[in-house]
Amino acid sequence: SSTNKTNKQSRLTVALRIRPLSKQEKDKGLTKIAQAVDSQMVVLHEPEPDRNDPLRQKRQQEKQFMFDMAFDEFIDQDEVYNKTTKDILDFVLGGYHATIFAYGPTGAGKTHTMVGYNSNPGIMVRALNDLFQRMHEAAEEDQFDVTMSYLEVYNENIRDLLRPGTGHLDLREDARTNEIKVAGLLEVKITNTDMVMNMLQKGNKNRTVEATAANATSSRSHALLQVNVHRRSKLKDVKGKVKAGRLFMIDLAGSERASQTKNRGQRLNEGAHINRSLLALANCINALAKGDAKYVNFRDSKLTRLLKDALSGNCKTVMIAHIAPSAVQREESFNTLVYADRAKNI
Ligand code: ADP
Ligand code: MG
Repeated sequence: SSTNKTNKQSRLTVALRIRPLSKQEKDKGLTKIAQAVDSQMVVLHEPEPDRNDPLRQKRQQEKQFMFDMAFDEFIDQDEVYNKTTKDILDFVLGGYHATIFAYGPTGAGKTHTMVGYNSNPGIMVRALNDLFQRMHEAAEEDQFDVTMSYLEVYNENIRDLLRPGTGHLDLREDARTNEIKVAGLLEVKITNTDMVMNMLQKGNKNRTVEATAANATSSRSHALLQVNVHRRSKLKDVKGKVKAGRLFMIDLAGSERASQTKNRGQRLNEGAHINRSLLALANCINALAKGDAKYVNFRDSKLTRLLKDALSGNCKTVMIAHIAPSAVQREESFNTLVYADRAKNI
């Protein structure tokens, strides 16, 4: 069973991050009902303990969840990066594929974790920073080529965030290698972190913003940063060998619509307002968790087609699920905790 554990951990790591209450939430008098009680356990309390009725209070059971990692509000960007992503870079530099994705309802902190701010960047920038650092350290032995592309999946349409206005792009499968490619997607050769930050900021400005609800900014769009690392040895005896690693970093659409359907164990349901890619991802993760790899339907959506190799092959995947802390979001938090808990079995 220790082998099992190792296998399991090499497939999917599940982390859970709780954001702090915002100033507005505190001003409204909202309190925190979700808490990481140690480095792995998250507790979700009942919304309003009835202090006048001790019997009833006893019956109100808090719910506990265990993850590979749990991050409370005090854990900063640097620590989240170090614990979830840093080690994965060695794997990518070794020629393998890895995926880091942020899951959770709108407003729970996904973009904060993945993109962040100039003054306090998230995983995308930190990972590339580190990548350049390691390339620099290994420059005597290896020659590197690093490219990035940044795309959005919105309503099952793929758009190039680095080249807005080019319309919808198609997915093509290479007949020989079976590899999925986005036809016409811009791949930019990158050499330093400033360049990356610049491209990401430009790209994020191009994400689809829903016209109506102001706070639903890009809640239905998935942003996917793909980094390809080609490493060629300069040493004589191994000259010419290329290691091709790939890192996906994904800021997923808000999970609220997907969990509303309550059909995570069933086949994909095509409701009008359901995010097809998110549901398909949930279905794939369910099937993988049950060990039904044969029945995983990667073809169901654009996102799962893009991630097929990254989810099924020899790869590492880290899911960082996000929840907001207050009672107002309790149901969404509960759904997210249950979902992330199920993903642990993969
Ligand atoms: P999402 O992308 O999941 O919709 P955001 O990342 O936009 O959510 O976060 C919502 C708000 O909460 C933003 O104003 C963001 O800056 C803030 N926030 C999220 N996570 C944190 C955190 N860990 N620490 C401080 N502020 C956070
Ligand atoms: Mg966001």
